[in-house]
Amino acid sequence: MESINPATGQRLDSYETHDADDIDTALGTAQSAFVDWRSQSMAHRQTLLEKTAQLLEERVDEYAELMTHEMGKPIEQARAEVRKCAWVCEYYAETAAEQLQDELIESDSDARTLVSYDPLGPILAIMPWNFPFWQAFRFIAPNLAAGNVGLLKHASNVPGCALAIEEVLQDAGMPEGVFQTLLISSSEVDDIISDDRVAGVTLTGSEGAGRAVGQRAGQQLKPSVLELGGSDPFVVLDDAPIEATAKRGAFARLQNTGQSCIAAKRFIVHDAIYDDFVEAFVDEVEALTVGDPTDEDTDIGPMARPDLRDDLDDQIDRTLEAGAELLTGGEAVDGEGAYYQPTVLTEVPRDSAAATEETFGPVASVIRVSDETEAIDVANDTDFGLGASVWTSDLDRGEVFARQFEAGLCFVNELVKSDPRLPFGGVKNSGYGRELSRHGIREFVNAKTIWVQ
Ligand code: NAP
Repeated sequence: MESINPATGQRLDSYETHDADDIDTALGTAQSAFVDWRSQSMAHRQTLLEKTAQLLEERVDEYAELMTHEMGKPIEQARAEVRKCAWVCEYYAETAAEQLQDELIESDSDARTLVSYDPLGPILAIMPWNFPFWQAFRFIAPNLAAGNVGLLKHASNVPGCALAIEEVLQDAGMPEGVFQTLLISSSEVDDIISDDRVAGVTLTGSEGAGRAVGQRAGQQLKPSVLELGGSDPFVVLDDAPIEATAKRGAFARLQNTGQSCIAAKRFIVHDAIYDDFVEAFVDEVEALTVGDPTDEDTDIGPMARPDLRDDLDDQIDRTLEAGAELLTGGEAVDGEGAYYQPTVLTEVPRDSAAATEETFGPVASVIRVSDETEAIDVANDTDFGLGASVWTSDLDRGEVFARQFEAGLCFVNELVKSDPRLPFGGVKNSGYGRELSRHGIREFVNAKTIWVQ
């Protein structure tokens, strides 16, 4: 398995992959580690999560540089990601005991009835490269706190990050087998899901991968969580403050070089302010600095791989052929690295590629609507249902509008973001299940009814 720096195209390192024997050993180790780990006190597990948070804080620069080199994330955003991983570890260290405590429920007057939340066992986590630390830690922190143990199959282009995650957990004192990284290809996942020693599977990734993993998990009757793609609407109503909304919109679309499941992808703008908004938005997009992701001033780095850049270019070409207008960008940047110009498409037809497919890179699609009814209709006219935001000066109007979104994460006057305290996940083809908050920690547990008469 190789790490290639997408900013230069140069090979950073190569790694030995795990073979069938290694996988078998890892599953055995996970199974025995679970027996011990589940019987440890919650206080002990919490202490190790606190230690993990502390190490992540101490190693912010080291891990941020690793991410930046391996998948091109601008360095300041990479540091923020490592800090957020420390936060989610601290969050569950503080809250897991309360979230999983026995729940007493009144039933018959002469009975004591309650629900206890027991861990299930080794959980396989299949993760994407776009937030290579965060996606993994938002699985790790709640599941290890709950008493499960983890096996990580990370995306093939971030093996260095995958091993660093294993390293920091080991250094924090997690017992052997509580968390292991497997350097394997996606073709080996089916057998692992089917293995009796694995109790469940979570995948963050594309719709195609989600269908494959969900199908296998269903066949094996194992619980699964699927966090898949999105085509989030960013609805600008006629009373939204134009300059401020355009600024937030540019960030909502272009953070992480546009490679975020919850990036705003379709800008649905009221006709009354359409021209002014588009002008301000293009100004904001053009003001962002594209360049070397290790440079502190860079806003937009390379895309994570040249093939992903080429796929995006193809989507833009097809959208232009369908009748959209190109206001800025629209081409790969000449020279080394997988760079793509930040792009704004307007008058995007509702049935074109950019309106119907997930665009996973620095391209914004702007769609004109004549009123609120059409705005919510366009917003929900997608197979995805991950995040959505609406922008207005009237908070009540915003909340009424937001409640009509067919999405898991609905925001008024704020860009869609994840927060350890709030549930995260989608509906429709964006998947099912929830991560984070008390909802996330209860995905891979046995909610066990106990009746004492
Ligand atoms: P991807 O190609 O689906 O890969 C994600 C992970 O799944 C990788 O580890 C990949 O391994 C593995 N995989 C791919 N096909 C598989 C299969 N048939 N069976 C088992 N595993 C398989 O996605 P990506 O390009 O890394 O990430 C971008 C996608 O993730 C976007 O669609 C984005 O919206 C989505 N995403 C969703 C969320 C969310 O929270 N909802 C968050 C971030 C990203 P290999 O690398 O070895 O192929």
